[in-house]
Amino acid sequence: MRISQAIYLDHQATTPVDPRVFAEMAPYFAKVFGNPHSVEHVFGWESSQAVEAAAATIGGLIGADADEIIFTSGATEANNLALLGLGRRAALGNRRRVLVGATEHKSVLAASRALQEQLGYEVQYLPVDEKGFIDLSVLECSLSEDVLLVSIAPVNNEIGTIQDIAAISEMARTSGTLLHCDGAQAPCAIDLHTIAEFADLLSLSAHKIYGPKGIGALYISREFQARIEPLIYGGGQQGNLRSGTVPVALCVGMAAATMLLNSSDVQIERERLRERTKSFIQHVQDLGRPVFLNGPEDARRHPGNANLRFEGFEAQSILSTLQPHLAASTGSACTSGIPEPSHVLRAVGLTTDQAEASIRFSLGRETTDDDIETAVGLIDDALARLSRKI
Ligand code: PMP
Repeated sequence: MRISQAIYLDHQATTPVDPRVFAEMAPYFAKVFGNPHSVEHVFGWESSQAVEAAAATIGGLIGADADEIIFTSGATEANNLALLGLGRRAALGNRRRVLVGATEHKSVLAASRALQEQLGYEVQYLPVDEKGFIDLSVLECSLSEDVLLVSIAPVNNEIGTIQDIAAISEMARTSGTLLHCDGAQAPCAIDLHTIAEFADLLSLSAHKIYGPKGIGALYISREFQARIEPLIYGGGQQGNLRSGTVPVALCVGMAAATMLLNSSDVQIERERLRERTKSFIQHVQDLGRPVFLNGPEDARRHPGNANLRFEGFEAQSILSTLQPHLAASTGSACTSGIPEPSHVLRAVGLTTDQAEASIRFSLGRETTDDDIETAVGLIDDALARLSRKI
């Protein structure tokens, strides 16, 4: 049952829990409820087996083993663990520089700023081209023996750009630099089965893949686990990398969501989504207003992402006019009460006005052609109403 009849085109913010995922989780609240770290009895063993199986499934998605998956509260924590964990332990070493993409999520940008402010690392922001692709020549020139880490998201959360992680990884390896990938938006967009060969650390989040909120994971290659200082100290769970009782039902939910992405028709699902997104973009552009697509126009973008720029309009006004019928979002963040234009859109070269005219629509698994038709009609009405006001 949907609480609201509104059309939801904000799947990159979060996805609904798939009913199949919910069903898998259900027994792990009241029936199999043991503390997975209770090693003395069968209740604990049952829960611990479920967590172990979940880690193995999630590892399977990215080509890693169960003991390389550290459960966290989400991708924000995973990103923090990767950057701060590595930075804190290497604080006395010779590698004093960290390279991060200019269009990274705030959790990566803020964690790298903390590395700079608290531990004196030098952080360099890697520029992107007008479609959001990392400038590989700048990356290559910037890499040297004093770089500890490169952090780049394989799939961008605002404009959907899909980076060439294989090429980035090769460059990082050549200089002995570790590569962290914020993969929160990646599983619905690309095949990740071999990514553990390229990335040394990879963040994941369940609520972007039709799993529950409050759970994510950091893949840490076995080889580098000793180089991570935990952020949370306590009972030493998860190889002492992240203390605290592991939430069994959430782990099971994340694994169930992962299983759905492992199914053989996921590629067909992605292509269907891509076609539907294309049709949405086309229909909005056919409304006869100056509407432009931000980000890549080819297959190198998230199949459900349509970041559209409505020149001459304010995204916030469009979004509020669309309420309560259509949900989408802007990438802008509100820091200390002052709204800022999206740093991603600014990094791809848009002006402040252009960034503030842009809306991210993100389609998902349950979006129908009817939803698209209705959404386009609502956008048409909203633009007409706003034009009358101008
Ligand atoms: N990284 C990216 C690219 C994201 O899109 C998000 C979610 N907006 C996050 C990290 C944070 O994920 P979580 O909500 O699981 O903390």
